[in-house]
Amino acid sequence: MDRVMPIYVTQPGMPPMEEFTALLKQIWESKILTNNGPFHQQFEKELADYLGVKYISLFANGTLALITALQTLRITGEVITTPYSFVATTHALWWNNIKPVFADIESDYFNLDPEKVEAAITPQTTAILPVHVYGNPCKMERFQKIAKTHNLKLIFDAAQAFGVKINENSVLNFGDLSILSFHATKVFNTFEGGAIVCHDQKMKERIDLLKNFGYAGETTVIEPGINAKMNEIQAAFGLLQLKHVDQFVAQRKTITELYRTQLIDVPGISFFKDMPGVDQNYSYFPILIDAGAYGKTRDEVYNLLKQHNIYARRYFYPLITQFPTYKEILTANPKDLPFAEKITEQVLCLPIYPNLAKDEVILICELIRNNVRS
Ligand SMILES: *Cc1c(COP(=O)(O)O)cnc(C)c1O
Repeated sequence: MDRVMPIYVTQPGMPPMEEFTALLKQIWESKILTNNGPFHQQFEKELADYLGVKYISLFANGTLALITALQTLRITGEVITTPYSFVATTHALWWNNIKPVFADIESDYFNLDPEKVEAAITPQTTAILPVHVYGNPCKMERFQKIAKTHNLKLIFDAAQAFGVKINENSVLNFGDLSILSFHATKVFNTFEGGAIVCHDQKMKERIDLLKNFGYAGETTVIEPGINAKMNEIQAAFGLLQLKHVDQFVAQRKTITELYRTQLIDVPGISFFKDMPGVDQNYSYFPILIDAGAYGKTRDEVYNLLKQHNIYARRYFYPLITQFPTYKEILTANPKDLPFAEKITEQVLCLPIYPNLAKDEVILICELIRNNVRS
């Protein structure tokens, strides 16, 4: 039986429209649309407070934040990163003429493996770029230690880790810089948007000038910057989203728990537990489908759901190293990513968003349960 309304993997949480039109009125009156306007300033301040970080610089999107973060630290040469991420992680290196070097992921939460990173360091290595995949913090202290020992910079792609804390401390307080994405598909959105988190005022000033063409005053351009500024409409929207994001995360948690109880006893299906000591953001609900035990492949489950108008997504498939664009890099590096290659064939992210109905979760789980080989 086909569902009339499609269920997508995600749907943005949004504030009530009246709240937004009230702020739009102010923008129409002030005629300040961008360039560090009043909403931009207020949002930077409130966001830093909310996240528990000292300095944050807002961006038009997460990819520009990542490209600019690499410029901020003047990264060159080789950077060690993960093949198991959204493709923008590696694209940002490419746009900076940096050679990505891929290391394998860990078996527990599919984050970059510090041991494999250490083994991949060469004299050309200048930085490490791990990703908090699905918002699960990677081994930050291990990476900090490796970075210190080998004199490397450490940038975290925290695009999926909005609001995530470990022992009450934001994951954004680790490493040299972290970047966030506020894209419509993320836990916290400003339509499009992003940010760099840093730890001192001088660094923030450098980031702020790099995102504004390199201007350090009316007539002074210090170096070739880019235009990556967040505008006033995005910032106003972000201010409203801050009032609602805790509720969005709570709703996502309820959905996660329902999925877990519904799928716990299905042979061949596995999923994450909460990480101890971590405030999760429940940004995704990935499951692994072991075709041997379940009796059907991941792609068969993906297609079955699709036939019912339910659009799960294979995050992350293919691996970044499997895209034709990065083939040359693949041949240049020993291909030693067995774990990433295994997970990419098994993973499926099920729909999760604040307004996803309980009935819909149960329907998805029934389809998965009834599809199992009996
Ligand atoms: C979403 C995402 C990005 C890109 O962010 P945009 O705001 O879409 O440019 C980068 N890295 C990861 C891991 C992401 O999930």
